[in-house]
Amino acid sequence: MTTIAFIGLGHMGGPMAANLVKAGHHVIGFDLVSASCDQAKADGAIIAASASAAVKEAEVVITMLPAGKHVLSVWSDILPQMGPGTLVIDCSTIDVESAQKAHATARERNLPSLDAPVSGGVGGAKAATLTFMAGGSKEAFSRAEPILEKMGKRIVYCGEAGAGQAAKICNNMILGISMIGVAEAFVLAEKLGLSHQALFDVASTASGQCWSLTTYCPVPGPVPTSPANNGYKPGFAAALMLKDLRLAQEAALASGASTPLGTEAAQLYALFDGTGHGGDDFSGIINFLRGDKG
Ligand code: NAD
Repeated sequence: MTTIAFIGLGHMGGPMAANLVKAGHHVIGFDLVSASCDQAKADGAIIAASASAAVKEAEVVITMLPAGKHVLSVWSDILPQMGPGTLVIDCSTIDVESAQKAHATARERNLPSLDAPVSGGVGGAKAATLTFMAGGSKEAFSRAEPILEKMGKRIVYCGEAGAGQAAKICNNMILGISMIGVAEAFVLAEKLGLSHQALFDVASTASGQCWSLTTYCPVPGPVPTSPANNGYKPGFAAALMLKDLRLAQEAALASGASTPLGTEAAQLYALFDGTGHGGDDFSGIINFLRGDKG
């Protein structure tokens, strides 16, 4: 049993912390929202009065917060309160630069740290089937792995500090671009009088095959479990896809990478979000491309 402090008990952090309790760990949680603390308490965590109080006795600290500025601010409060050798892991999706800054602040105090963003969404957080992509020292990774395994089914070591965040935004840039590509193909097929099923039957076994088509098909019918069959309820909300595409664009700008389709995808998701559809599943971009009103 490990004593784990968990800061940020929202949609993702709440069920992740609950899975650590289920695995037999002693979890001390904190969130600014009292309803999230109440739920975590009902799931078996102890609730601390502040983030700083939560980490005092912890051997491992996990943060699951909205963005880079929250992570840097919380880490600057909690790092001075941690005992020697405490491992600190950030699972939020944040910009690579902030992730590297957070690692540097931990290094100044000689504390091992890891960036370990996830994919798999709220469903994966609840079912403990998340994929973790980790960046940091191999020693920090070896210590974190048995804990992350209680919340996920695939734990990938990606490299040094910030490499987990880099993997996450590169993957999601592929996803955003490929979803737009698949959606455009269905819109063109409709104009050409080709049925959804016929395009799916060909492309899903031909060179157009990809996850956005075969698992997350943006039209109802061919893949009964895709959000298109459920009124485009998320799933993975378009606003979150936009956040990740913007993080990819920030990283591209900072590193000098050329990502013209990533830029275009970020712009299209910004327009879709601007029409009030940020809460729709990201595959709903097909309705925007088709020019559907509403
Ligand atoms: P959320 O908004 O539900 O949870 C974030 C929590 O952090 C909130 O409960 C908030 O009160 C808390 N918080 C903010 N500042 C705090 C502070 N100073 N001290 C303590 N708590 C504080 O968001 P979420 O959906 O759980 O996402 C968390 C992270 O995971 C984000 O970076 C997101 O991009 C990423 N992510 C989300 C999903 C998803 O499907 N929701 C999937 C993969 C990754």
